[in-house]
Parts: sequence; C-alpha cells; structure tokens
Amino acid sequence: MPMLHGCAFPGCSTFTLSTYCVEHELLARAVKESERAHVTAHDEMAAAADAALTADTALVAAPETAAT
Ligand SMILES: [Zn+2]
Repeated sequence: MPMLHGCAFPGCSTFTLSTYCVEHELLARAVKESERAHVTAHDEMAAAADAALTADTALVAAPETAAT
C-alpha cells in the first residue's frame, strides 16, 4: 500500500501519494511546459536574428564584393 508523504514543494505540507500534491503537481508541470515554450521561442528568435544579420551582412558586403 502506497504511503502518504508530504508534498516535495518547499513550504507545502499537503500529504500526497506522488511527489507533489495535486496543486503543485500541476504547477510543476506548467513551469516545465512554459520553460519548454520559452526555449522554443528563444530558438526561433535567435534564428530570426541570425537571418536578419545575415541579410544585413549580405546587403553591406555585396557592393564591396562587386567593387573588388
Ligand atoms: Zn504542495
């Protein structure tokens, strides 16, 4: 039979069968998903910034390349 124990969330004394109580289980899951979403957004922004920089460099470099 599973033993009830305190929620692993700091300061939470709710007893639970899993690592966290229901409230903090949902909270932990939401934090994980928002971190993943943040990382994905960051990667997309970084890719967009790289593309913008590459386009700028191409525009700046083109006349010099033509002159040389
Ligand atoms: Zn809790």
